[in-house]
This record gives sequence, C-alpha cells and structure tokens, in this order.
Amino acid sequence: MATKEHTEAAEMGAAGDSAPFEVRYNPAEIEARWQERWAAQPEMYAAEPVSSTKPKYYVLEMLPYPSGQLHMGHVRNYSIGDALARYMWMQGHNVLHPMGWDAFGLPAENAALKNNTPPRQWTLGNIAAMKRQMNRIGLSYDWRNEVTTCLPDYYRWNQWFFLRMYERGLAYRKKSKVNWCPQCATVLANEQVVNGCCWRHEEQPVEQRDLEQWFLRITNYAEELLEDLSRLEGWPEKVRTMQRNWIGRSEGAQIEFELEDASGTTEDEEKVRKSGTVLLPARDGVKGTGKKAAVFTTRVDTIFGATSLQMAPEHPLVKEMAAADAGLSDAVAALLEQQRKAREAGDVGAIEKHGVFTGHYAINPFNGERLPVWVGNYILLEYGTGAIMSVPAHDDRDYDFAKKYGLEIRVVILPRSQAESLGEREALLPYTAEDSLLINSGEFNSLGCHEAQHKMTAYAGEHGFGKATVTYRLKDWGISRQRYWGTPIPMLYCAKCGIVPVPDSELPVLLPENVEITQQGGSPLARMPEFVNAKCPKCGENALRETDTMDTFVDSSWYFYRYTDAHNDRAPFATETVAYWFPIDQYIGGVEHAILHLIYSRFWTKVMRDLGLVRNDEPVERLFTQGMVIRNGAKMSKSKGNVVSPDEMIARFGADATRMYSLFAAPPDRDLDWQEDGVAGVSRFLSRVYRFAMKHAERAKSGARPSSAELSPDSQALLRKLHQTIRKITEDFAGRWHFNTCIAAIMELVNALTAADAAIGAGKVPDAVLGEILRSLTLLLAPFAPYLAFELWEQIGETENLLRAPWPKFDEQLAKEEQIEIPVQINGKLRAVVRVGADADEETVRAAALADEKIAALIADKEVVRMIVVPRKLINIVVK
Ligand SMILES: [Zn+2]
Ligand SMILES: [Zn+2]
Repeated sequence: MATKEHTEAAEMGAAGDSAPFEVRYNPAEIEARWQERWAAQPEMYAAEPVSSTKPKYYVLEMLPYPSGQLHMGHVRNYSIGDALARYMWMQGHNVLHPMGWDAFGLPAENAALKNNTPPRQWTLGNIAAMKRQMNRIGLSYDWRNEVTTCLPDYYRWNQWFFLRMYERGLAYRKKSKVNWCPQCATVLANEQVVNGCCWRHEEQPVEQRDLEQWFLRITNYAEELLEDLSRLEGWPEKVRTMQRNWIGRSEGAQIEFELEDASGTTEDEEKVRKSGTVLLPARDGVKGTGKKAAVFTTRVDTIFGATSLQMAPEHPLVKEMAAADAGLSDAVAALLEQQRKAREAGDVGAIEKHGVFTGHYAINPFNGERLPVWVGNYILLEYGTGAIMSVPAHDDRDYDFAKKYGLEIRVVILPRSQAESLGEREALLPYTAEDSLLINSGEFNSLGCHEAQHKMTAYAGEHGFGKATVTYRLKDWGISRQRYWGTPIPMLYCAKCGIVPVPDSELPVLLPENVEITQQGGSPLARMPEFVNAKCPKCGENALRETDTMDTFVDSSWYFYRYTDAHNDRAPFATETVAYWFPIDQYIGGVEHAILHLIYSRFWTKVMRDLGLVRNDEPVERLFTQGMVIRNGAKMSKSKGNVVSPDEMIARFGADATRMYSLFAAPPDRDLDWQEDGVAGVSRFLSRVYRFAMKHAERAKSGARPSSAELSPDSQALLRKLHQTIRKITEDFAGRWHFNTCIAAIMELVNALTAADAAIGAGKVPDAVLGEILRSLTLLLAPFAPYLAFELWEQIGETENLLRAPWPKFDEQLAKEEQIEIPVQINGKLRAVVRVGADADEETVRAAALADEKIAALIADKEVVRMIVVPRKLINIVVK
C-alpha cells in the first residue's frame, strides 16, 4: 500500500518546482539516448567467467511466460531484481543476472486457434515484443545467456533428463485417473483445478478420465524434500510451511484386516449379522478367508475402538464382493457415481457421506472381534490403502458416519482426568486428543496414547499383521500432457519390444512445426503420421512415437542452470560452471509459485545431484516473494478493467519513474496499490534531482573536500544527511529490502539540498562538498533510476562506467547526529564543557559529564548529592 508519508514525500518534492529553470527533465530523450548506448555495449551486463576473482552473485527473477505484454507485476518483480543486481555490481561482485522465456504452454495453442498463427511464430513474436519492453525499462540482463524453453537447443535436455530418469526408474508409466478439461482437451494437474473447474476456464467443470500417463517419482525424494526445508533459512517461513503441508508427511501404522469366512456363523450371530451395525465378539473357531485389506492409521492406539472397516468403492475386494451380489453391485455403483461427481466438483473432502454394508465382516487382528465391512463414497482408492478402520468415538468423520448409520460407538481413550470413569460420555465424543489413556484395550489399557502407538505398532509387527509406515500427501508428478506445444516425450512403442526409449543420439525428438491445432480429439501430434511413425531402435521394425508432451513445469525446473552455460550443445551445462554459480544467491518471484515450481525445481536439483551433474543439494539460497500489484482494491486483470499498461506509464512518465514508483509505493513483500498520482510524484521528484544536479554540475567537477572540522555548519549538516542516507540504503540492501523507505530517504536528502540551495548559491558550501554530495546522490539513485543516474554521472564529469563505480561508503563519524556543547557546573561554578549528540537522552548527558577528565578529578574525593540536567543547556553537579 502507498502510505500517507510516501505520498507526502513525493508531493514535497513538487513544492520547489515553481522556480523556472533553463533545463527541463525529459525522460523520453534521456532514456532513448542511454538505451541506445547500453544496447551498443552488451558486455556491460555480462557475467565474468568463473575464473573471476570477484565474489560471485547470482540474482534471478522468475522467467515470464511470453504472453506478449509485460504487466505491472512483472515490472515490479524485475525492478526489485534489477536494483539488487546493480547494487551488487557496484559492490564489486561478479553478477549473473539472466532472463529467459517459459515459452511452452497452452496459450500459444489457443492463440493459434484464434488467430491462425503457428504457436512458434506467435511465441517468438511475443518474446521479441517483451524483450523490447524489458530493454525499454532498462533492465540489466545478460542476454548472451537467454534461455527460450520452446527451442530445441533447450528442450532436447528435457528429453535427455527424462531418459536418465527412465533409466533409474524415476520415470514410469501407469494408468491413472486424470482431470480432463473438455475445452482445453487436455489433462490438468490437481492444482489447475479451481473449485472443480478448469483454471483457465472458470465455468468449465473438470471431468475424470483414465489414461496411461508418464510420471516422475518425486515421492522417492519426499523425505529429503521435507528434511531440507529446515536448511532453507533464507526462504520465507510461509513458503516453507506451504511446502511442508504439500509434502504432508504422516507417521502411522499399516494394519491388515482379514475377511471372515462366514460359513461358520453361529445362530446367535446370524441375527445381528445382517444389520452390519454391531461388532461380533471374538470366539474360538472363527476362520479367515485369506483375503486381506490393509488400512493406514496414524491412531493405531484407538484400534480397539474400531467398529467397522470402510472401503473405497473401487477397492479390489469390494469389486469381488459386488461381483457376487447384484444388490451390492448397484449400491456400490451409486456410491462411485457420487464420488465421481464430487471429484469433478473438485471437493471430495466435502462430499455428503453415504455408505452401504457389504454383508461381510473382517477380523480385528488385535482382539479377534469381527467388524462389519462397509463401502463409503468418501473413501478414495488412491489415498492411503483405499480402506480405513472406522473409530467413531475418536474421529470426527467416523463419528458422523456412525451416527448416520447407527454403527456402534466404543470409547477406548479418555482424558487422564477422567480415566477412572468408564462412562462413555456422549458429550465428550468424538474425543480426538492424544494426551489421554487407553481403556477397553486389553493388555494396552492405561497406556498413554503415544506409548500405545509405539507398543501396538511393534506388537503388530511381531505378530505379522502390520508395520510402522510413513505416508506422504505428495504424489508422483504426472507430466503427460495431451497437447502440442510442449517437449515431446522421447519414447517409442514397438509391437515386439514394448516401450523403448529414444537413443540419446537421436535427440532431440523435434516438435513438428506445421501442425493443425483444433483442440479437439486429443493431441495434434497423434494426427501426424510423419511424427508418429518411427523405427524401433532395438529391432528396426515399425514403432509408434509417444504423442504426449511434457508438463511445462519440467521446463522451469532446471532453466536457471542452463543460464550459466546456455550454448552448451554437449551437455545441459558444464558441472564446473554450475558449481561456481550455484546455489542462486537471490531468487525473486511471486508467492503463487511457492509449491509447484519451487518443489519441482528442488526435486530436479536432487536428481541432478544424484546423476553427478551438480554438487549443490538445493538450488536457491535466498528466496524473496514480492507482493501483488493491485488497483482499486483488486489484482489487475482484464476482466476487472483495472489494468495499467507499463508502456503507457513509461510513455507518460519515463521508465525510471515507473520502476522507481513500483519500488517506492510499498515494501516489496506487500501488495502495491497502483496510483497514477504516485508515479507523477516520483517523476516530479526525479525532475527536481535533475534540475538541481544540472544547475550545480559544473561546480561538482572538483577535487577532494577539506576535513569536516573546517566546514561550515551548512556543509556539515548536508554531509551528515548524505552519510545517513548512504548508511540507511546500504543496510537495507543487506537485509530488510525496504526500498520504499530507501527511496523516501533519498527524497529527504534532496529536500535538504533544495532547502540549502540559497546557501549553495551564495558559495557557503564548497564545490568539493557539493561534488561529493552530487556524486553520492547519483550512485544512490543508480539501482532505482538507472537512466537518470547514468545521465547525471556523465554531466558531473565522471567517465567510469557507473555500473562498476564503487558503491559509496558511509562515514560513521559524519553520519552521527549533530553534536552540541553543554556547560558543566560543580556547585554552580562552570568547570567544563562536554560534547554530546543533539538528541542525547539525560542518561547519556550525565554519563558524559561524569566521564569528563576535569570533572572526574574535581569530584574524585567528594560525594555527589545530586545532578541537575537542563536538556541541551546545562548540567550542575551538587557535591559536598
Ligand atoms: Zn480448460
Ligand atoms: Zn522393437
């Protein structure tokens, strides 16, 4: 948010504008001139080779999708990264600051359909347009290392990595339920399903389909991905928490329940069997069928309270039971249909729970009791084991279900305070806390929950019906997309040999260019015989190519490694070069990438490490997530009609004012409410800086200033302000990144300068002091308003490239607050004078007086009765 002070500071900048000056700030002219000069020397932004003796600094902003137009969110993101890159250059680092294009993806196909432009042409045209915009903004990218993910020199390495993963069993194929958007005619990731609808088509409900898909085994790395989060201290805690939750580790036990052989049912049992609502007690002679259902539970301590087994409609055992029971078969089909609808609505968690008793019982391996087996529409086959033990007394969901169907509820844990009471107090239920004791649990009675969990898991292991298990919410990464504009998956299908990988020597599998995009009937590649038909590399017979392409998150999982060695045609990159640059020192992007992109790229790094390609375990040392740019209280979007075009802002106010405003209007991690008045204010501020500097530029071209003791109070005050400003900005770059207050501090400095303009004009400030101030001011502006800074740098007579000019150092002494002299009396007689800061508190003033040598000697053998301190005026020490 733009704070009130900021708006005022910007407005104060306008206050001195009335006096007309011969020079006028013309950003269009200045910026065009410098843009041309920078374009003529691309080596200015080039990273030095790894042999450089400077410390390295890799600053990276997330690469954009080439939609054709930068939006203000981009401008903000890149302005933050650019300020940092420029600052690090000036601090003497070897800076890598690259940019590229996340160039595969569906919009290119949509555009092709709409405008009849081939996706490649559309994409490359957009890239050119956005690159022009970036250059117009004056962003300091090293374009020699540009990466464009839709070009074969990049995506061939996606294919190469895929083959390496396939060799190691990290890429595999399986039939899987997928989210299908009929409009996109493609599979959507779960995260692309928003409220049951397609993320691109907000009104389009997502359907479920079964397809053979390629998966990457990210779950192999689940534990390490979780563990290493604790090492990422330079990441926002919210991002780490989101990843932790996404990985979703839970510890528990897997327990097997065997189905009962009902042939031995007694007459007494026969009466209750049919209801399926009560447990059948243990007795001798009960036999099992040998068919077992595993359940995963984090609360094995409650297993004596299990009163039913609940299974997914698609569980293999349910299918078997239904095959022999037409009534059950219909009921299960109805449950499955409810589940399908809930999936399509995107919220299975909120499904209205229904279930049906199967007529079968399963044996609780802990006590031999028999539990009715039910099918529940809320149980998903693909989560856990597809079956659960239902413990109504100690689980919210199970409790609701039991109440609804009249299932038995048995209390097996109680709060410690109530452990003596066996009364099953309805009001307490369901009781889910774990600071409790077990009851009704046989030999495990009176154990605490945690102890019971350990002992009971061990017991299950010893008796061969269970084991300790860790499960994750994280699923393997389905990368198959039935789309054209993506990396072809380099696999072949041979009638004789089965699935055959494309040999490395035949990479890249090129994406054909002239393709008809219809977005109907699956992938366009499948309709191109020249693509599909190939020879099997094993047997030489005809084979068919895989027509799925890769999820575009594959492209962004490792692109930042390619920047270090973008033209390598023998490997994705040189290991030594990556070893020099990695990990990325600072990564900057939107928090919306907290989960997918940032987990996938961590996974990819770990796989590359295990392949021996990189030595780092993690790709990113420090992560910064900037806030959104909003306007009129909402995120800028076409549908809300509140979009501000960067081009328009730049045309009106210049690139410097636009980018500086995007840093000034809010702390970078907060949302920024775009106000055109604010941009205008920053533009007026830059105009004041320009006119002030131009007016005094000639006088600034002089040598070193005299020591501060010889300076007038005016000069001292200005230098103090200058060094305080340098200190503030230097400290902010190191940590807080409150660029908004940095810019406000520069504004204050300029206010002080313009206020002193008369004194400066009257010659009360020596040229050398003026020179130091103007040079430093220009250096301070360089990360935020580079065009103006380069212009002023030259105007004040500097010839060194500003980007390599050393960042100004602050002088602690000068930055100190103004000093005042205070007379010190002893019993009313003046004895000494002490110097303290003008803002020093009473404590400091007393201490200064007592520490004075003369005073200390005079009161050495006396008793101090009291001290009277008149602020800023006088100290009187009363002694006897
Ligand atoms: Zn869609
Ligand atoms: Zn073959």
